[in-house]
Amino acid sequence: MAQQMGNQPLIVLSEESQRTSGKDAQSMNITAGQAVAESVRTTLGPKGMDKMLVDSTGSVVVTNDGVTILDEMDIEHPAANMIVEVAQTQEDEVGDGTTTAVVIAGELLSKAEDLLDQDIHATILAQGYRQAAERAKEILEEEAIEVGADDTDALENVAATAMTGKGAESAKDDLAELVVKAIQSVADEDGVDTDNVKVETVVGGSIDESQLVEGVIIDKERVHDNMPHFKEDADIALLDTAIEVPETELDTEVNVSDPDQLQEFLDQEEQQLREMVDKLVDAGADVVFCQKGIDDMAQHYLAQEGILAVRRAKKSDIQALSRATGARVVSNIDDVTADDLGFAGSVTEKDLAGDEHIFVEEVDDAKAVTLILRGGTEHVVDEVERAVEDALGVVAATLEDGKVLPGGGSPETELSLGLRDYADSVGGREQLAVEAFADAIDVIPRTLAENAGLDPIDSLVELRSAHDGGDSKVGLNAYTGEVEDMSEEVVEPLRVKTQAVESATEAAVMILRIDDVIAAGDLKGGSGDDDEDEGGPGGPGGGMGGGMGGMGGMGGMGGMGGAM
Ligand code: ADP
Ligand code: MG
Repeated sequence: MAQQMGNQPLIVLSEESQRTSGKDAQSMNITAGQAVAESVRTTLGPKGMDKMLVDSTGSVVVTNDGVTILDEMDIEHPAANMIVEVAQTQEDEVGDGTTTAVVIAGELLSKAEDLLDQDIHATILAQGYRQAAERAKEILEEEAIEVGADDTDALENVAATAMTGKGAESAKDDLAELVVKAIQSVADEDGVDTDNVKVETVVGGSIDESQLVEGVIIDKERVHDNMPHFKEDADIALLDTAIEVPETELDTEVNVSDPDQLQEFLDQEEQQLREMVDKLVDAGADVVFCQKGIDDMAQHYLAQEGILAVRRAKKSDIQALSRATGARVVSNIDDVTADDLGFAGSVTEKDLAGDEHIFVEEVDDAKAVTLILRGGTEHVVDEVERAVEDALGVVAATLEDGKVLPGGGSPETELSLGLRDYADSVGGREQLAVEAFADAIDVIPRTLAENAGLDPIDSLVELRSAHDGGDSKVGLNAYTGEVEDMSEEVVEPLRVKTQAVESATEAAVMILRIDDVIAAGDLKGGSGDDDEDEGGPGGPGGGMGGGMGGMGGMGGMGGMGGAM
């Protein structure tokens, strides 16, 4: 390929640059995208398998979560990465449906390859796919079922559906209840900010001992033993600055030769610390959360004043405390006033699985809650946490949009039928693309059936005939193998499906429209060598090389899942 370059003297590229054009570029990118989709396909649905991922340091993650798998896989091929981004967008927008989105994207690429082989131009394909995606969103909207903000049962079904097949399976009903309660208590007119639900994991105990605390829990202890364990009706100060004398002042003044003078400076330092603590006392603070350090001397003064203080609190914790207690985060202790303080009915240091934590409860504005998740081992709790994060996302999306769809491949079946009808009205060569899109969507029910050990053809035929007959809520129950109305139990927010269609289409179209890959660097090099390339242009080069090297690994992974 480098030799081709010699025939095109007008394009100025460095010696090492590699170029792949036309069909070669397309098929290389399509293969890369498909490999990514294939690697997560076996995890789809309640009966999907898990993946065990081991990184270079030997640390292990066992998960069923699409976006987690792809993040951990360290994929370098640029086109493959576009598919990984689909999962990331899905995660950011809804928090669930990541595997679905990636599997659809992979199938859109597969179907496109067939059409490219029949000499349908990529531009026509892209156009047809975009049209199909627009129509798909309309069909999904038409199928959506309304859910009210106080319809707790339906919301719990949404939460439980998102957790099916994950590590949280055994306790999913209990967890669904906690998740819905958590989201309902942080919801307000502006919608739901899931950041207001903090998730704390505790290794020890069983999953069903998980609990919801209305308030914020900080994984820290009091900074000084003489401080109180408990403060009732506490006025709370939040600082993002240290209660220390700035280092620089001390450094410059220590250069003084006279020992008396040094003592004087040390006294002066103590005096400054005393003044800082006095400012907090004058403002009326009972509890202080400091994002930075607290000097030993200042700790002592604070303890003397009966103030409960915590140092080096995480920034996210300070923010959560600010929302929960109404405190303003203070950057300059000199300026702190009573107005800056927040309030909590109770601040207590308590033991949680062997570690001290600070519980800030009975907050004025209960718009902050903490879910304490328990599980037998670290791997278990981590996977439970990922399942709960998905559930929080879908319940929030349902509360905001008020619309759900039945699961188990029901909306996808409706889509593929509806899009085939629509294709007739499109005409031209785009019609073929719309039909390909309709075929591609079938990958979801087909994979759900496969992963549940059912015959995919039988299941698809049954689903189609039910939907053809007007039973639009019918899906495949992966537990019973029955094709039945799913709308009562297995439901997902509309947004999961519309977003999956949208981002899968965008990524597939973007990949299809590429007919030229120009990489600064060696296309066939291993990823390790490429890391030494310097400067920006090394990026894509490293990506290409690493991707090719990485493909084998991914293929192996898909194979592994399939064999289990
Ligand atoms: P994703 O990352 O896309 O959310 P999941 O592994 O969570 O992937 O699987 C989601 C799919 O599983 C959805 O299509 C959903 O409708 C389906 N599903 C959930 N529960 C059931 C069930 N009991 N029977 C059949 N399908 C189900
Ligand atoms: Mg899911």
